Amino acid sequence: MTDERNDKYSPATLAVAAGRPTAGPGAAMNEPIWLTSTYGADGQYDYGRTGNPTWDAFESALGALEGGQALVYSAGMAAVSAVAGLVPEGGLVVAPTSAYTGTTALLRESAQQGRLQLREVDLTDVPAVQGALDGAAMLVVETPTNPLLDVADLSALVAAAEAAGALVVVDNTFATPLGQRPLAHGADVVVHSVTKYLSGHSDVILGATVTRDDDPGRALHERLRAHRRLNGSIAGPSEVWLALRGLRTLAVRYERAQANAAELARRLSEHPAVSRVRHPSLPDDPGHQRAARQMLGFGAIVAVEVGGDAELAERVACSTRLWVHTTSLGGVESTLERRRRHPLEPDDVPVDLLRLSVGIEDVEDLWADLDQALRTATR
Ligand SMILES: *Cc1c(COP(=O)(O)O)cnc(C)c1O
Repeated sequence: MTDERNDKYSPATLAVAAGRPTAGPGAAMNEPIWLTSTYGADGQYDYGRTGNPTWDAFESALGALEGGQALVYSAGMAAVSAVAGLVPEGGLVVAPTSAYTGTTALLRESAQQGRLQLREVDLTDVPAVQGALDGAAMLVVETPTNPLLDVADLSALVAAAEAAGALVVVDNTFATPLGQRPLAHGADVVVHSVTKYLSGHSDVILGATVTRDDDPGRALHERLRAHRRLNGSIAGPSEVWLALRGLRTLAVRYERAQANAAELARRLSEHPAVSRVRHPSLPDDPGHQRAARQMLGFGAIVAVEVGGDAELAERVACSTRLWVHTTSLGGVESTLERRRRHPLEPDDVPVDLLRLSVGIEDVEDLWADLDQALRTATR
């Protein structure tokens, strides 16, 4: 499949077809794993820290899905660091009060070191974001957020940032390009933890950035590529090959996981041992209307409060048999964890909140196991 035809195909098709070697007699179906540190002089590639055909295959598939130019990194946090490197020395960054802990910790540390200034705001409050953006170099957006599942209004935030002359970065890890395409809303950079849904099998740590094709003269793609090369935040070709293999099934995995999540969220909201369920699919969820407007589907992460203390929530997490008690998310396997067990998790995350990453197992098996864990722990 050639890149010129990308816009003809739906995302589910691009996930399967984009980034393959040119078809033809004897052509390989998949780009092989290029395990080499260097290439013969005077060719398209010269050194393994600068380029690798296995990266290119993954990047062209992800770029087709997000509608831009992708770069793959050694971790989601390497991608976040590369993006933070776009802020000029002492520049102002507006970021969510509550979001992925790694991103928040990195920005706070950079602010403490005086490398940048940081203003934290509630991204669901558009006037507050508008107020904070005065003089800002960058707006960092995460939607839905990890783990509170706050949904930000992408178009409104992009318009506010544009008016202030700030770059807009959107962490699209939870929604995936199948759930929302931030570049189409006018964002400048998309960030992914490829570790999660894109690779989907809990077997690699990787990250990515995607920038607009019509970047108005800021050369963001080239600056990020240079950052990756100079910081050495490069991915191993074997991991990238696994991620691309995982990406091929993204549409079916994500569709199934979202359907499971919506069904479990509905049942959990009626469970006697649960005090609050957060999932944008629920009609009374604060993010429901926004998510229905700007997303395709509601994602597959559900947050549940068990209406007790940390110890009760830990007991629930330890009482499942099928659900795996572990951190991370976005794999085919259903997992859960109490987020406040991590010291860096912000205080606005309730101590009894369990984050559920709903996988692709049979929903009745998932429900039966959750139900027995909730009953066992609260008995
Ligand atoms: C996991 C995660 C990251 C960090 O990615 P790593 O691959 O673990 O470095 C960034 N953003 C979000 C929303 C995440 O869930």
